[in-house]
Amino acid sequence: SIPLSFFGGIGGASKCGILVKGSNYLEALADMTTIVFDKTGTLTKGVFKVTNLYPAGMKKEELLQYAALAESYSDHPISLSLKEAYGRKMDAERIGEVEEIPGHGVSAVVDGHRVLAGNLKLMKRMDIPYEENSVSGTVVYVAVDDKFAGSIVIADEVKEDAKAAIAALNEAGVRKTVMLTGDRREVGEEVASKLGLDQVYTELLPGDKVDKVEELLQNMNGREQLAFVGDGINDAPVLSRADIGIAMGAMGSDAAIEAADIVLMDDEPSKIAVAVRIARKTLRIVR
Ligand code: ADP
Ligand code: MG
Repeated sequence: SIPLSFFGGIGGASKCGILVKGSNYLEALADMTTIVFDKTGTLTKGVFKVTNLYPAGMKKEELLQYAALAESYSDHPISLSLKEAYGRKMDAERIGEVEEIPGHGVSAVVDGHRVLAGNLKLMKRMDIPYEENSVSGTVVYVAVDDKFAGSIVIADEVKEDAKAAIAALNEAGVRKTVMLTGDRREVGEEVASKLGLDQVYTELLPGDKVDKVEELLQNMNGREQLAFVGDGINDAPVLSRADIGIAMGAMGSDAAIEAADIVLMDDEPSKIAVAVRIARKTLRIVR
């Protein structure tokens, strides 16, 4: 039977906007020593803004239009920023053969032209000769009819409470804080150092994130528990694999919320340390 104080713990957490899906996760939280974060939408706002356009052989407006139309069916944070910058209605008749390639970007036919929009991995995978853009920020590379058409720089911001969230976890005795991201090294390392994370792994494909978590789990022993915090559709397998899966409830995908054991209703990473404190208090009564 479940000790009554667990209900008190779960109730106390829910009052703080932390939904715990079972008493066993409260128990696991009390023993969490490693916490792994996804970057975009979890530690950063995931609301990108287009900051610069670098067209190659076309006008800036054309570059943005191709990218935005190609991305019209995606709801990736990057895609939303391109559509927002474009700012006009999309005519569905202009767009066809849409394919989203996880961890890479999208491919679509726009006005009869085959358009690719995504990261360098996408350009390499499709054998497009590209000009690398070394400006700081997340870069979307665009190709039209297999020819490089330019790059678009977009910037994300870290969440207001992210730095305090990491500090509070360290203070609560969590030994290892890790960030995983599909974004490029420069961007990942900048965010990790800004937030004071212990480790960062970048340029990962969605499947690589599961492998990284497996690897970290192998280096832990006995009672030690690992939590993964994510928000995206691609994060569902990692959320399931971790001892404790924590999802963002407000902006997070349905798949992530479904796969998670704990949901943060207001998307604030600082709530995790609050949950740890509640869990420890509950367990002191039970154990
Ligand atoms: P993260 O690990 O930061 O949450 P994702 O795994 O969602 O990022 O994506 C990894 C990378 O793949 C992105 O940084 C971006 O370069 C590229 N990418 C993914 N989806 C798209 C898209 N719809 N449009 C452009 N680029 C994309
Ligand atoms: Mg993500």
